[in-house]
Amino acid sequence: MTDFLIIGAGVSGLLLARELLKAGASVCVVDKSDAGREASWAGGGIVSPLYPWRYSDSVTALANHAQNAYPTLVADLFSETGIDSQLSPTGLLMLDADDRAEALAWAAFHGRSMHALDSDDICHREPLVAADFRHALWMPDVANVRNPRLLKALRASVMSSPAASLIEHCEVQLIDQAEGAVSQIRVSIDGVQKFLRADQYVVTAGAWSADLLSGLVARPPIIKPVKGEMLLYRSDRPLLKTIVLSKGRYLIPRADNLILAGSTLEHCGFDKKVSDSAKKSLTQSAIGILPALADMPVVGHWAGLRPGAAAGVPYIGRMPGFRNLSLNAGHYRNGLVLAPASARLMADILLGRPTLVDPAPYDPAHAHDRDAAF
Ligand SMILES: Cc1cc2nc3c(=O)[nH]c(=O)nc-3n(C[C@H](O)[C@H](O)[C@H](O)COP(=O)(O)OP(=O)(O)OC[C@H]3O[C@@H](n4cnc5c(N)ncnc54)[C@H](O)[C@@H]3O)c2cc1C
Repeated sequence: MTDFLIIGAGVSGLLLARELLKAGASVCVVDKSDAGREASWAGGGIVSPLYPWRYSDSVTALANHAQNAYPTLVADLFSETGIDSQLSPTGLLMLDADDRAEALAWAAFHGRSMHALDSDDICHREPLVAADFRHALWMPDVANVRNPRLLKALRASVMSSPAASLIEHCEVQLIDQAEGAVSQIRVSIDGVQKFLRADQYVVTAGAWSADLLSGLVARPPIIKPVKGEMLLYRSDRPLLKTIVLSKGRYLIPRADNLILAGSTLEHCGFDKKVSDSAKKSLTQSAIGILPALADMPVVGHWAGLRPGAAAGVPYIGRMPGFRNLSLNAGHYRNGLVLAPASARLMADILLGRPTLVDPAPYDPAHAHDRDAAF
């Protein structure tokens, strides 16, 4: 029998599979559609929380580990698969942080590089950014990763292992339990129902995770879908060197003169349709930051569902009341940056290894306390 069955092949599930395979386990990953095509594909790929000092230390702890791990992860994936995830250390320029003193104190405490800039510095660093910004914070070490390529590389890496199987278009419909353990899961593969079994089961189904658990436990941890829409501009020349953030909206420069403009925050269930109103709002924000974008075509517009959990702290750990069921989900706006660390922590817990960080803040056993305020 397979050692681990992972439900959901986004960045959380595929990175966990990779961790477990590296440790010598056998792994089956299932996904209701193609691997890596939900939030992990739709995201911007900024390898940092936005305004990172506004998050709790538990998010910072994972982010610090993950940011350090990214260069090696991307290099290893490139040598394993030939797919370059294009990790670009562009830096992050935040144009609107009113809480600069807190931000600088946070950066000093956590050993992160951060500088306060005035309008001349902003103009020097990004000459085409709108002239009306007087202050900024600059984090030179922040990178962005081309997440659709990262997901392709992760899929290829997992598939290359003889101890792995990946079943796409395989929707988990029911998790069966008996006497404090999951006994099997019922799946539908292209409309045909089957049962799959493993020693251990891990839910990494992003925004769908709580729904999957709701048939099993009376009060699953709250994980809500939060829609984010994104635009893609194609410029005819380089316009931007760094990620620029203002009022929660950002521009991300990619290779090939592509610029991503994100993102909305919408609470509308599992609806992933894009809207003209979001496009208008994103266009206004993008041009407000970088006026030259007014002359550039929008070549893409999509939406994804973030897995929203209380305070943006993911649930990582064993589900209380079950011997063989765990959860790694709820990464909200930071699932791409946090994934290498959260997958490592989940693997540490599953394999009984010393944990990367203190697991307590992420423990699903504390969900009721955390969710009370959500
Ligand atoms: C617009 C936008 C911008 C973002 N920008 C950033 C950013 O710049 N940096 C950052 O760090 N994060 C960002 N995020 C957040 C990040 O994308 C998510 O937190 C992260 O991708 C979550 O990964 P996941 O693997 O947990 O979920 P997902 O990628 O959603 O994967 C879950 C998988 O589970 C599968 N699944 C669900 N239900 C079932 C079922 N019943 N049976 C089988 N499979 C199932 C789904 O098909 C899916 O493939 C952004 C998100 C959005 C939407």
